Amino acid sequence: MTENISLGWEEWVSLPKLGLPAIKAKVDTGARTSALHAVAVEPFGSERNPQVRFIMHPNPDDPHIEVVCSAKVIGRRMVVSSNGESESRFVIESPLSINGQTWPINITLTNRETMGYRMLLGRSSITDNMHIVPSSSFLQPELSFDVYKKKSRKNKPLRPLRIGILTQEPHNYSNRQMIKAAEARGHVIECIETSRCYMAINNHAPAVHYDGKALPRFDAIIPRIGTKMTFYGMAVVRQFEMMGVYCLNSASAIGASRDKLLAHQILAQNNLGMPNTAFAMSSRDTKGIIELAGGSPVVVKLLSSTQGKGVVLAETKKAAESLVDAFRGLDAHFLVQDFVKEASGTDIRCFVVDGKVVGSIKRSAQPGEFRSNLHQGGNAEKVKITSEERKAAVKAVKILKLNVAGVDMLRSDTGPKILEVNSSPGLQGIERATKKDIASIIIQSIEANVRSVIYV
Ligand code: ADP
Repeated sequence: MTENISLGWEEWVSLPKLGLPAIKAKVDTGARTSALHAVAVEPFGSERNPQVRFIMHPNPDDPHIEVVCSAKVIGRRMVVSSNGESESRFVIESPLSINGQTWPINITLTNRETMGYRMLLGRSSITDNMHIVPSSSFLQPELSFDVYKKKSRKNKPLRPLRIGILTQEPHNYSNRQMIKAAEARGHVIECIETSRCYMAINNHAPAVHYDGKALPRFDAIIPRIGTKMTFYGMAVVRQFEMMGVYCLNSASAIGASRDKLLAHQILAQNNLGMPNTAFAMSSRDTKGIIELAGGSPVVVKLLSSTQGKGVVLAETKKAAESLVDAFRGLDAHFLVQDFVKEASGTDIRCFVVDGKVVGSIKRSAQPGEFRSNLHQGGNAEKVKITSEERKAAVKAVKILKLNVAGVDMLRSDTGPKILEVNSSPGLQGIERATKKDIASIIIQSIEANVRSVIYV
């Protein structure tokens, strides 16, 4: 900072790194350190990397505007406030801007709800080239609280986020990669075991409990809900949504994509290509079911199948009939699907983040196998997809309202045929084959989507 600045006893300032573009501050050289209004102050991070998250109401006349802020803690300080009470406060460092000039200052956090000014500018924040004119006010350009009403993705501060991964497998490849990517970008991230969460359902103070206490406030939750945990996992995600936490995929979107019947119906309704499919439970009309799927050969799938485990090919009419009869006897939901022969043991997985395909792989089955799942010994290689495939993947994910998903499709003579949209797609196959850092792309999507300004 070079130019001289004159400050009156009250001035408009901004703290850009905290996402606070307009604050009316009282300049008070009687106080040593600057102080900022903060409620719901919660420390997080580790001893090596201490952070603090707090809520600030920038406009004293409008308590409905809440800004969620977070910053690195540089210390704690005992401060005696104007009413004589001493209080231990967190100290953070953040750049202060006045009229285009910016310099770092130390700020203590305290509840200033009852004070007229949400910020106090103390003498340690005043530099040599500043001239204080106690008899004047607003010597610098005035700002407006209206900036908090503008939705801007561009000027969002990159603040340290507190992120939780809801998972039953904290140590798997995908989670390890996301943890690495989030930490490299300055965030604090931890795994929460879905099945260990418990909740009280009420509308005034929804919370998620874990190991005997309520979980702290997270900025974002990454649901990684396995098929065995769908029902309970959705309830936990829904609870986080009720608490106002940004969830990478919503509970209802996870539910719709996980339910193969529902997903197929929604995709068909929106004219997305998929293999001719018939659903059945215990209909006696075996022949009719096979005809609906287009006649033999057909693929019969248990609705609960994952990793290709409940997927069987019936090459002849006879085989198809006995297979459908056998599945019927199981009293399980199943579907019968036209066998897309020309896909010949391969499928395409498009990884979609925020409405864009960020990587795509072709999975090929082992010789003699038609299922290309990696769990069935298939292998993956990077593939260039057609614009039709790209459009289908993006549209499927949009219709199912997912932010992150893997779309599996078959290449047929009549265009892409969608098999499944996976709301917790694994990262290992796609990252290894494409050499792309998909985990970082996911974390960047979270940074772009977490809202810091909230209207309550
Ligand atoms: P799962 O959910 O258990 O993985 P999928 O429906 O994805 O079941 O099927 C597993 C694999 O079987 C697919 O990846 C694909 O290679 C093959 N497959 C599934 N359906 C068909 C079909 N209708 N035609 C040809 N191959 C299929």
